[in-house]
Amino acid sequence: MSDLVVPAVVASNDYDIIISGGGLVGASLAIALADLPLRIALVEAVLPDDTENSSFDERSIALSRSSKSILNALDLWPDIDATAWPIDEIHVSEKGRFGSAVINAGEQGIDHLGHVIKSRILGRSLWDRLSECSAIDVFCPARVGAAAAASTGVTVNVEQQVPVSISGALLVVADGARSAVREQLGVVAQHKSYGQSAIIGNVSIDLRYAGNVAYERFTSAGPLALLPGADGVYTFVLTRNTDEVDATLALSDDAMRALLQELFGYRVGVFRNLGRRFAYPLYLSTAESLTAERTIIVGNAAHGLHPVAGQGFNLGLRDAAALAELITDAIASGSAGVSATDQLNADLEGIQSAYCEWRHADQRNVVSFTDGLIELFAKPGGAVSIARGLSLLGFDILPAAKRELARYAMGQGGRLSRLARGIRASGFE
Ligand SMILES: Cc1cc2nc3c(=O)[nH]c(=O)nc-3n(C[C@H](O)[C@H](O)[C@H](O)COP(=O)(O)OP(=O)(O)OC[C@H]3O[C@@H](n4cnc5c(N)ncnc54)[C@H](O)[C@@H]3O)c2cc1C
Repeated sequence: MSDLVVPAVVASNDYDIIISGGGLVGASLAIALADLPLRIALVEAVLPDDTENSSFDERSIALSRSSKSILNALDLWPDIDATAWPIDEIHVSEKGRFGSAVINAGEQGIDHLGHVIKSRILGRSLWDRLSECSAIDVFCPARVGAAAAASTGVTVNVEQQVPVSISGALLVVADGARSAVREQLGVVAQHKSYGQSAIIGNVSIDLRYAGNVAYERFTSAGPLALLPGADGVYTFVLTRNTDEVDATLALSDDAMRALLQELFGYRVGVFRNLGRRFAYPLYLSTAESLTAERTIIVGNAAHGLHPVAGQGFNLGLRDAAALAELITDAIASGSAGVSATDQLNADLEGIQSAYCEWRHADQRNVVSFTDGLIELFAKPGGAVSIARGLSLLGFDILPAAKRELARYAMGQGGRLSRLARGIRASGFE
């Protein structure tokens, strides 16, 4: 890939849209906009196949049904289909407590609840596609440094081997939860540390139990998720308190397997073949606004979530699909003779307010659902434990509660974008 992403040699430094960050969300957005008659610049700090790339790594991403539809509508699914493993059932339980919740695709009247894919594989597919998009100038490895926005446009310093200043009508901030660009443009984010890290790795389960079931188990040591993959190789996501992370990472394979076994029990048999482990500090970050002067914020830059519910990318991809639809419709509504650039400038405020209105409820719901899940299961003892036991029983007994949980898992709450309904009708191809 890396030979495809050298710092761009560009015809002009004036763009319609500048995207800061080419992680999973920024790259998806660029591809969703690629057919429009607009000049787009994508600036990404780290080459996609660099081991330092923190977006495209060994983490497994549970893709919701709506994410699959979006990727399919963008014609990306055929590339990843063979490596995406289906989830047909999600099993939620708590160690030492009665009751569990089972969400089953058949009960919901659908084939699969979602799919699991390595972010490295999804990232490669996105960047391979980007290299085919002639309307997009990719600057990589390059950082957005100083950025300034005024009523007339945005200006961005691209820090690369030969630094360059570029300008645009709209800046999309897609550069992650710790975005310095977002802060520069005056949008602060609230950060709440969970005092925990997620430790991920691969582990094989007994082949007799291998299938399409994902597990979420809440334990006194923190949540443990198991996501299915080929040949009975599951990805585990174990949450540990910060002060236990180093010691957990230092455990021998045998000791780590014993820990997983103790926390998970023997529902899927004996764990074997433990792979390398990686740790990610966990926090919730929420931007106080989704827009600023000539700026729109998407993905983790708008909302960085605890991975317990597997929602971060799914939510960010819905941001990207919604924004692409609003921009597409604005350009399509232009009168004959009005250039796409002029139309984008004319409609920018409308696009910003429609984006806020569309995305606010979905983001708020997923943030509070994920955060609430952590709060509910993280506090040991007493009345909360009774509530937890009841809530797990309740999930399984009460069809309405289960349907709600399933809707989150499938990413189908709120207004669906055209891409999420499988339609890519920009009319500009
Ligand atoms: C262990 C773990 C498991 C997860 N599991 C799931 C799951 O099952 N399902 C799910 O939906 N989500 C999951 N997530 C969340 C998901 O990985 C993120 O929500 C998603 O990757 C966010 O993508 P993004 O593009 O918004 O941000 P990022 O991935 O943070 O990408 C931001 C990009 O911007 C670049 N950048 C930063 N600053 C600059 C700058 N100044 N100039 C240019 N470029 C810059 C960075 O190099 C990076 O490539 C998980 C996360 C973790 C940690």
